Amino acid sequence: MKNNAGDISGQEIVFTGLGVSHGIATGPAYLVQIDNPEAPEYALEPGQVEEETTRFETAVRQAQRDLSMLKQKSTGLPDDTAEEIGLLLDAHMAMLSRSRLTRGVRARILKDQINAEGAIAREIDSITGQFNRIKDPYIAARGEDVRNVGYRIIRILMGVPYLSLSDVPPGGIVLALEISPAETALLDPRRFAGIATVHGGVAGHTAVMARSLGLPAVLGLDRRALESLHHGAPAIVDGIGGKLILNPTQETQRHYDRRIQDLKADKAALNKLTKLPAVTTDGTEIVLRANLEIPRELDNLPTSGANGIGLFRTEFMFMNRDTVPSEDEQFETIVEIVRAMKGAPVTFRTLDIGGDKLARALGAHLDASNNPALGLRAIRLSLKEPHLLEAQFRAIMRAGYFGPVRILLPMVTTAAEIEEARLILQKCHDTLKKDKMPMADEMPPLGTMIEIPAAALAADSLATVSDFFALGTNDLIQYTVAIDRGNDQVAALYNPLNPAVLRLMEFSIQAGLRAGIPVSICGEMAADPKLTALLLGLGIREMSLGFSSLPRIKQRIRDLSLTKAEDHARYIMDQYDPDRIIQIVNTFKA
Ligand code: PEP
Ligand code: MG
Repeated sequence: MKNNAGDISGQEIVFTGLGVSHGIATGPAYLVQIDNPEAPEYALEPGQVEEETTRFETAVRQAQRDLSMLKQKSTGLPDDTAEEIGLLLDAHMAMLSRSRLTRGVRARILKDQINAEGAIAREIDSITGQFNRIKDPYIAARGEDVRNVGYRIIRILMGVPYLSLSDVPPGGIVLALEISPAETALLDPRRFAGIATVHGGVAGHTAVMARSLGLPAVLGLDRRALESLHHGAPAIVDGIGGKLILNPTQETQRHYDRRIQDLKADKAALNKLTKLPAVTTDGTEIVLRANLEIPRELDNLPTSGANGIGLFRTEFMFMNRDTVPSEDEQFETIVEIVRAMKGAPVTFRTLDIGGDKLARALGAHLDASNNPALGLRAIRLSLKEPHLLEAQFRAIMRAGYFGPVRILLPMVTTAAEIEEARLILQKCHDTLKKDKMPMADEMPPLGTMIEIPAAALAADSLATVSDFFALGTNDLIQYTVAIDRGNDQVAALYNPLNPAVLRLMEFSIQAGLRAGIPVSICGEMAADPKLTALLLGLGIREMSLGFSSLPRIKQRIRDLSLTKAEDHARYIMDQYDPDRIIQIVNTFKA
């Protein structure tokens, strides 16, 4: 953390970024070092080896002192917690005094003639690489311990202190280089005011998660924002305009205080729509469901007017833990959601881990290649490790006893994947029945995410083996235009209105409707009121979106004429210039 930012300290500074989560937060901002710093590596000058080894030994001794201080502090905790933490800290201390890690680093400084930080990073990679080859989640978690201890020494060497999320006082704004989707899931919006980061794109899962939690967020900021922060300085996160303002002047603060009041009034007005149907001015009713990542979001259910859950991202049940959740654990979480929905259907998507959504519990299975978005992930991983899929299928079908459930398969490319999954589903159903486990009489509908261009182009064949389609436009855009959805550097090129994307959407919607199966959209396009007319015009009658966006979209539908929406969509589908399409969308009047 930088202390005083010198000439800029105290002066208002505005950083622009990507406003990814509607809302405005004001409060003191704290730079949180969530990610480990990048360890510098450089060659040593001849004769520097001894000095570098001493630097390393001094940092190790400092780490040992820090850990024993932590251990002392932990004695104030309840007995069993203190014991648990004590054991963990002892293991880390042991690693500092005699371990492959410290031995390996000394040897690398000597042999490779590189600096201590670089030697530690290399040794961590080598140890964890070997651990990961064993493909056991317990061993993979031990690799995390090695990483932890190694980066503790690297931080000391680099002089980068560790401020964790729990150090941020209530009402604080979190500023970080990057926050992963799993870490975002841990942010309680009652405790944190907002987030601002350097890395992250509009449709990455950190953005999706922040929107779901209703946490104002600006991503893709200039790195200098991190250096300009005076610890705890007043700040504003404008998640609508995409701005982080440090040290706002009184005038700026007053302006934003007024806007916060306006937003509250808008929200109160929208909440009045809760019980009204989402029906167009010419009488077509649209089904609006909610996307859900973590059960805590269900707090928003009463005011959202959601007619069921159209997408529950089960992968979040696998994050922030060391082991894979058992079938029973998954059942407990799932049944809680089914019960809360009181008879409205809940769509559980099977594990979509991979890409930017990582879970250390699955470390041994995850694709560590350079191109994880195209690797072993989602349905591919589930079919390769069918025990993962079976536990999910069984947990979902058991929960089906308490209310209607549907199952959705992520990242499908071919009809064969759906058929294989259906056979596994049938087998799980038969065993549950044989064991007289309570579950719904009917098999749950099995749906397919259309989110890979190959799936969209083969939608007519996929429709013959699917009970419903859900369009995952977040990935469909990413894979069609070859733009990483979570990358701030290319965020401006991530364009939902690219005609190629729209054609793939139109083709798959039509294929689904021709086959007589329901087609919904659960990507973030569903949450943008500017796109509602186009989506309805293309034939969409079911949408699933984050709780926080539901009332606004319902309002939009209630203002729209379907006939005009269809004309609008036809006009757009005749265009080939993305900029022209953006212009038409922006100027469309219902
Ligand atoms: C999508 O890709 O549009 C989608 C809904 O799934 P996710 O955002 O979880 O990848
Ligand atoms: Mg997706």
